[in-house]
Amino acid sequence: MKTRLLPVITAVCLILSTVTVNAATVMIDPGHGGAGTAGAGAIYPPYMEKSLTLDVANQLCAELNASGISAEMTRTGDTALSLPERAAIAKNSGAKLLVSIHFNASAAHDKSGCAVWTSMFGNHYKAGAECGNAILSNLSSLGFVNKGVWTKAGSQGDYYGVVRYGTSVGIPTIIVEHCYMDNAKDRAILESVGTGALAHADAAGITGFFSSATGQALTNGSLDTTAANSASSVTVATGSGKSSGTGSSSSANLKANFSDAEWQWLLSQWAYTGNAETVITQVPLSDLKALIEEHNKGNI
Ligand SMILES: [Zn+2]
Repeated sequence: MKTRLLPVITAVCLILSTVTVNAATVMIDPGHGGAGTAGAGAIYPPYMEKSLTLDVANQLCAELNASGISAEMTRTGDTALSLPERAAIAKNSGAKLLVSIHFNASAAHDKSGCAVWTSMFGNHYKAGAECGNAILSNLSSLGFVNKGVWTKAGSQGDYYGVVRYGTSVGIPTIIVEHCYMDNAKDRAILESVGTGALAHADAAGITGFFSSATGQALTNGSLDTTAANSASSVTVATGSGKSSGTGSSSSANLKANFSDAEWQWLLSQWAYTGNAETVITQVPLSDLKALIEEHNKGNI
């Protein structure tokens, strides 16, 4: 299968400059990341899942912090992280909730809708299902079909790794599959409302959850989230996956590398962000050139 290179959005999450010792309440995990098809997640030009997840996560992180719920991210750049590392970063930060951001795709491009996966165990399910349903309710009001909250059993406990490792360190964990990025109906909604609307749906759901009885019990430690699953050998690595964005060019400097037509086409690839001129400056020049090369070959 031909590998299609796509640029990487590395907009950096809002970092508060004030000195703070507060632990993160919510760890946001932008799904996938890292080089090549291994790190890409789903690929459906012009979309690459790892970039969409980072885009949504950046906005979600900023909105939660602005609303007074401390949030951090497992990665802020195009970084490859293992699933245990994602759980370990959450554990190190003292997070009460781990929210892994994803987009779906299907082989025939005929599936649509949003869904949440969480643990099947005890209060991990209770917290995951309540927070997940709050998010899904908001996503469905954008037009996505609400496919509901799901659990899945595997040989080691919960089937999905980030859920299994998160719950194994005592942190309720959800995977939010926002929509099918390869489905015409879902893409039309995504491109109409923009990634910021998805981030807002997540943020409002999470904020609402933390004001509920379950969310408050989770915050004050009275909700029993004793580690679930047998896969408990999570190595706690200190922030090993965190990285900063790689791009820093100004838009004018960047534009000088391309013809007007190429530049306009590049901007069109990020039109869905509503902020293409800014977002594009976060993308490494080599990725932009690779994208243009593929475009000129007729591949994208
Ligand atoms: Zn994914």
